[in-house]
Amino acid sequence: MTGGTLYICATPIGNLQDISARVLDTLREADLIAAEDTRHSLGLLTHYDIRRPMISYHEHNKYERAQEIVGRLLAGENVALITDAGTPVISDPGEVLVKAAREAGIPVTSLPGPCALITALTLSGLPARRFVFEGFLPMDKKERRQVLEDLTHQRRTMILYEAPHRLRRTLEELSEALGRDRKICLCRELTKIHEEAPLMTLDEAAALYKETEPRGEYVLVLEGRSEEAVEAERSALWESRTPAEHLEDFMAQGLTKKEAMKAMALRFGISKSEIYSLINKQAIDK
Ligand code: SAM
Repeated sequence: MTGGTLYICATPIGNLQDISARVLDTLREADLIAAEDTRHSLGLLTHYDIRRPMISYHEHNKYERAQEIVGRLLAGENVALITDAGTPVISDPGEVLVKAAREAGIPVTSLPGPCALITALTLSGLPARRFVFEGFLPMDKKERRQVLEDLTHQRRTMILYEAPHRLRRTLEELSEALGRDRKICLCRELTKIHEEAPLMTLDEAAALYKETEPRGEYVLVLEGRSEEAVEAERSALWESRTPAEHLEDFMAQGLTKKEAMKAMALRFGISKSEIYSLINKQAIDK
């Protein structure tokens, strides 16, 4: 008996027309459609007159269901995985099923399509060559603080998902961590009638949502740390100690003198020969 294939199918994030012909064919021919919320997905399937057996696959049953679905795939059924919005696996439970299917030697293929983070990034006007996707910020206080701290150093464009009832708090925390003047493209209701994506500062965004009740779905696209900010921090750090003290700090981490000078050159963007002469000069001056 040959096994079936697991098809990861991207579905609309709002506008029902945003679905590929290949995804529609795959859904029509699937033996089983695994959906995050079967009632929600029924709207999409009914719109396209697709009637196939469905099974729920969500955060609270993902481990048991993944095993059940793998069993059906091994028995030869073709399964299409869909989510409430966009691309399965991205900030939703699909990952567990994909991993289980691959471990069982089942062919997995992904049919590309809408994804809120990519839609938001492409219309933000912020640098898109390098970016990081953080998904939802963690709820755990300590983890959240750590992620926010990491983001303060991030030079790439950052993309976050957020629920409307947490938007205010998140904007305030981001403003505190990244600075009030940092640019944010606040993408709301993408592909829907009330789509908007204003580019503003974090301060302006926080002020706007003090006045306005957040509604709908949001993707936050944030400008990375600027070169000037990185440079200013680097020179402030360099100025805060003498070259010899910096050398001591690096050597205290277990580096030899030569390695420490190399690390200093890298850290402060100064040539090795300059570091060498500064340290020697200081030694002579003493
Ligand atoms: N798998 C989805 C994807 O491909 O983007 C994301 C699923 S995640 C559980 C849901 C989050 O995606 C929402 O809270 C929101 O941050 C973002 N999102 C989904 N649809 C959106 C839309 N139409 N406009 C803005 N954000 C959206």
